[in-house]
Amino acid sequence: MTAIPCGALLTVDLDAVIANWRLIAARLAPPSRAAAVVKADGYGLGARPVASALSRAGCRRFFVATLAEAIDLRGALPDDEIFVMNGLDQGSVALYRRHHLIPTLNSVAQAREWQVHGAGQAAALQVDSGMSRLGMGLDEADILAQDAEFRRAVPLILLMSHLACADHPDHPQNRAQWQRFERARALFPGVESSLAASSGVFLGPNYHSDWVRPGAALYGINPIPGRPNPMAQVVRLQAKIMQGREIDGGIGVGYGASHHTTGRTRLATVAIGYADGLMRVLGNRGHGRIGDKLVPLVGRVSMDLTIFDVTDIDPALTGEGSWIDLIGPMDDIDQMAQTAGTIGYEILTSLGERIHRHYRGAES
Ligand SMILES: *Cc1c(COP(=O)(O)O)cnc(C)c1O
Repeated sequence: MTAIPCGALLTVDLDAVIANWRLIAARLAPPSRAAAVVKADGYGLGARPVASALSRAGCRRFFVATLAEAIDLRGALPDDEIFVMNGLDQGSVALYRRHHLIPTLNSVAQAREWQVHGAGQAAALQVDSGMSRLGMGLDEADILAQDAEFRRAVPLILLMSHLACADHPDHPQNRAQWQRFERARALFPGVESSLAASSGVFLGPNYHSDWVRPGAALYGINPIPGRPNPMAQVVRLQAKIMQGREIDGGIGVGYGASHHTTGRTRLATVAIGYADGLMRVLGNRGHGRIGDKLVPLVGRVSMDLTIFDVTDIDPALTGEGSWIDLIGPMDDIDQMAQTAGTIGYEILTSLGERIHRHYRGAES
């Protein structure tokens, strides 16, 4: 079988994902342990291969956002715990039971639904400790905590909450949320708890509870912005040169002719565009690399194609079929995110299906 050639390639280093998970785990003191968040298709890298590699490395607990993600992941992870963080959709308990999934009960109504239809099956309960996104209030959690019938029917295996400002270690909301979470924990003695995601891990042991739930850091995104990234780089994004052209003089480049060449210029058109998740805002701002040499992204990013100025590069390296690095050894995810005015999370989760995923390491 001949593989269909691809125009853009995302190489995912599964050994680096495992190394990052171990690095997080090594920061924890017992009884705290590290789970893994693989929502949004493993932040765009592929939930199944990422989770399978982590499972083989000893990770036993996984979190996704939606029920559909969990059902899909169950196919790759027959034995591990899979939590659904977005909450319990009405009428979905049978699917949870069939696939042995663990819901996050985010409201009293969800808790009652599980009490009636999921009785005897493990569940997590989420409180809102100050982010105002998902989870029930402390008063509601208290009602459930005191409700003997609920407690008998629903084995709670995790009490969780989520920090809004953990990437700013000095933000006063971190401590305020921690204090609220401590009050919630006191309502459920003996129930394990989880507060920290990637950045929360770096706030120190107070925030570690029984489980931490890192996502971004596993994929190489810096969990401590403004300080050197402790995580290993996981991805390399390359786009293939589909056509080169030599220009002498001034000519418009791309839609809207937003860039004009001057003098002798060599351009390379590569097979990646905003439909693949290469942010359109990078037009005339971003860059790629050939080896360690920077090549400016010129003109607008189009849907399927992007143009780079390769005038300064050895022509032997810019022929049709050559590759330009967009995220790679020289420029990491956070670097591209900064240029695009966004965060690494959005860069990774935007990467489209046309980009071929190639997996290295972890016996892949
Ligand atoms: C996405 C998410 C995580 C993981 O967050 P990262 O910052 O990627 O580590 C953990 N918990 C909840 C509730 C989330 O929504």
